[in-house]
Parts: sequence; structure tokens; C-alpha cells
Amino acid sequence: MISVDRALDQILGCVTVLEAEPAPILETLGQVLAEDIYATFDIPPRDNSAMDGYVVRSADTAGASPQSPRLLRVIDTVMAGSISEHEVVPGTAIRIMTGAPIPRGADAVARFEITDAAQRKDATREIAILAEVKAGEDLRRAGEDITKGAKVLSRRTVIRPAEVGVLASLGRAEVAVIRRPRVAILVTGDELVDINKSLPTGKIYDSNTYSLAALVRRYGGIPQVLGLASDSEDLIRAKLNQNLDADMLITTGGVSMGDFDVVKDVLAKEGKLVFWKVRMRPGRPVTFGRLKGRSKAGVAKEIVHLGLPGNPVSAMVTFEVFARPAMLKMMGRENLAKPTIEAIIEESIDNDGGFRIFARAVVAERNGRYFARLTGPQGAGILTSMSRANGLVVITEDRLRVEKGETVPVVMLDWDEER
Ligand code: AMP
Ligand code: MG
Repeated sequence: MISVDRALDQILGCVTVLEAEPAPILETLGQVLAEDIYATFDIPPRDNSAMDGYVVRSADTAGASPQSPRLLRVIDTVMAGSISEHEVVPGTAIRIMTGAPIPRGADAVARFEITDAAQRKDATREIAILAEVKAGEDLRRAGEDITKGAKVLSRRTVIRPAEVGVLASLGRAEVAVIRRPRVAILVTGDELVDINKSLPTGKIYDSNTYSLAALVRRYGGIPQVLGLASDSEDLIRAKLNQNLDADMLITTGGVSMGDFDVVKDVLAKEGKLVFWKVRMRPGRPVTFGRLKGRSKAGVAKEIVHLGLPGNPVSAMVTFEVFARPAMLKMMGRENLAKPTIEAIIEESIDNDGGFRIFARAVVAERNGRYFARLTGPQGAGILTSMSRANGLVVITEDRLRVEKGETVPVVMLDWDEER
């Protein structure tokens, strides 16, 4: 039986970063940029007004005050998106809206608040300026956000909403990103029934397909649901051969003591078993191997296969521990660690076997410190314990018991990824 760390190293050693492909920017959230992005023009493209008001020559406002207003003749109005052909000459102003380009001759904007525009009926013909404006006041300079030729985003940047916006401001509809991994999911077990069918006695609904497909999606992959296979080797193999155009295959079930041979035999004949059984709880019977598959173009390739335990909690926890980092590595992400905090544990936990324990917990903050309490019964079949939890308390292999009040690391399931 190998350790969690060793198992993860072996998995990561077998996965490589996927190829880049162009994608519409809105589809790339959470993906990694595969090209450097340079600006081909200035943003903003021209000097423009930061406020609604009157664009003026600052010298014309010298000494202006409410007691000593400066009267200017208004020669034009310019809205965002249009350009005034007029030049601001001494004694004149142009009414201007936020974002409109600054006309020739002007060097500052007098915002409405320092004019008498609100009191005046003829504010499109004449205006009184009630305060001095300095040269450059309320102007946004061409290129002040992005200068033409500058590298705006670097390859390997993780795309967030702000990056989507920056790409749009540069007029990029598509961008090269590392593509999303396709993760095929196959569940095994004679007792399983598809959720679209009625439930005969003695059977249970397959929940793993859905919790795992949801996890794949959450972490940026594309789930490919292969459906149910019964506990027979031939059926599993037939299912796999139907569809292996994936980057990773996840199976559940068929790996515990009683029926381990089913998945093992498939792996032995269709590929290679790298490890089975990891010193962890839940999740001990997890297996990992490499399967022969084919690409979309029909070219032979290897697909990593994670055989997760059938228990719904074990399947989700082993996904978080092993499948998630493997997926993130494929996507070109550099930080593969889930956000982890230190919390004070509110009950003692035994770890007699020297396993790494992942206990479902609710973490709450009180007075600037985090406290973690377990979600109740920790049976690997109690899926609602996962639903109640917002974190996984980690007890490492070397701790045979953790006492109430001690500090433990907690993997925060709900926290957004760090970059
Ligand atoms: P196994 O690993 O196949 O021995 O399954 C362990 C437990 O998990 C058994 O109680 C199974 O009925 C249950 N189980 C296995 N696969 C699923 C699944 N896809 N959905 C829900 N429960 C499952
Ligand atoms: Mg089974």
C-alpha cells in the first residue's frame, strides 16, 4: 500500500499538459492562456473626457469662483462615440460627455458640478465656469490603460473575468488556451440503476456518475458520461471500447477486496496497472493505471485511468485528492493545491491504522480563528456528510490520534482556487 503523496506523484508523472486550441473568450474562464497577448493599439485610443461637463482651455478658467464666474461661449456638443470637428479657441467651450474624445485646442474638462449648467436654460450656447481647472483635469490620456505594443497578458495566465474583459477591450474574440480535458466516467455495479428509470427493490440509484461529472465540470473539464456497466469484465471492456476518446477515464466500484479483479483484469489486458490501494481513509482501494485508447483522429494513445472506490464519499474524496490535480496539470495550471487553512478541531479523531484521514467537516470562523467540527457519522456511504461539509480535515499518517483543541489542516472544498 503506498502513501497519498507517492500515489499523487505517480499520477502526476503520467499526465502531461494538453495542447492549445483557439476558443471564444467567454468559454475560456479558468483555462490557461497559451499565447502572449500584445496590444495592437492604445486603450483608450484617444485622450477623452473622464466626466460629463465642458471641455475648455484651462487658462480661460484662471481665477474663476462662484463670485467671479468665467463666461464661455459653447460652440458644440460631443457625445461618447463621436468626434467634434471644432477647435476650442480662447473664450469658448464644448459640452462633452464621459468617454468622448477631447477636441483640438482644449486641455481640461470642467465637470458639470463646477458650472452653472443646472441653473441655465441656454447651457448649450453659454456656460459659466465657477472654479479654476488645471491643465489635464478630468482627462483620460490615450494609452493610459494599455499602450500600443505592450504585452498585456502572458501565456500561462489563468483566465478570470477580468482577463476576459481585457481580451475583449483588445478586440480579441478568440484566444489560444490549453484545452479542457475530457474525462470519461464509467460506473460499475450490478446494483446500480440510472436516475431516469424507476427503482426496483434491491437496487440503488447511481449517484457517482453525477457527483463526479459535476466535479469534472467544476474544475474545468468536460465530462463524458459512459453510463453503467455491471460487474462483468466483458461488459466493462465493451463499454470502454465504445468510447475512449478521452484524456482520463474514471471508473467507480469494482476495486474493493471482493471484486477488485474486475477492474484489475481489464487494466491488465487493456493497459497497465500502476498502483492499487493507498494509505488513506476514505478511499483505500483506489487504483491507477494506463489504458490503450485512441484519439479523435483514430491514432493510438494512452489514457490515464483512475479506478475510484464505489462508495459515494470515497469516490468524491479520491477525486478531490487525485483526479483534480491531474486535471489541473493537464490544463496547464501551476498551482495544483486546493486552498488549505489551519483550524482548531472540536473533537478528537483516532487514526489507529496510520492512514491519511480526510474527515468531512464544517469550518466556521470565530474571533479571527477557524474551528472545525465533523459532520457526524463518517461512513463512506453517507453522501449527505459530504453535502453538509465545507472542508476536509486532514490527519496525516504519522498522527495516531488528534486531540480536541489541536490545530489541523483543513482542505476548503468550497473555496475558489488559488492561481
Ligand atoms: P464497491 O466499491 O463496488 O464495492 O461499492 C461500495 C459501495 O458503494 C456499495 O454499497 C455500492 O452499492 C456503492 N456504490 C457503488 N457504485 C455506486 C454508484 N455509482 N452510485 C452510488 N453508490 C454506489
Ligand atoms: Mg461494486
